[in-house]
Amino acid sequence: MECIFCKIVSGEMPGKIVLRNEHICAFRDIHPAAPKHVLIVPNKHLASTEELSRNDRNVAAELLLAVKEVAKLEGISETGYRIICNCGSHGRQEVSHLHIHVLGGAPMRHGLG
Ligand code: 5GP
Ligand code: ZN
Repeated sequence: MECIFCKIVSGEMPGKIVLRNEHICAFRDIHPAAPKHVLIVPNKHLASTEELSRNDRNVAAELLLAVKEVAKLEGISETGYRIICNCGSHGRQEVSHLHIHVLGGAPMRHGLG
């Protein structure tokens, strides 16, 4: 498996892990786009939201619940944050392992896209 996020999850590649449980792993983005920038990924390889099925409902829920936990650990629960989940070519997804970006620590720019 040549997936970099699978390698970070397995420990084969180094990553600055923020949070880990049975379902998900959260680690710092290598090129932070905000003072706080964490990626939350399922431990199981799923290429994108397009690969989610009802059988993955636990993973889907754990990803979103981890957002709140990461925000608390990063100290941005009160000030707020933005979550982004890019999918596919038009979404400009670069790494084909489902991930949620958690961005905070400063106000985001106005607008989306
Ligand atoms: P995407 O564009 O797919 O939504 O975002 C991929 C993100 O993964 C980018 O923000 C990029 O900086 C980050 N990234 C790419 N390679 C690595 C890596 O090897 N380690 C870490 N921690 N982040 C990475
Ligand atoms: Zn993967």
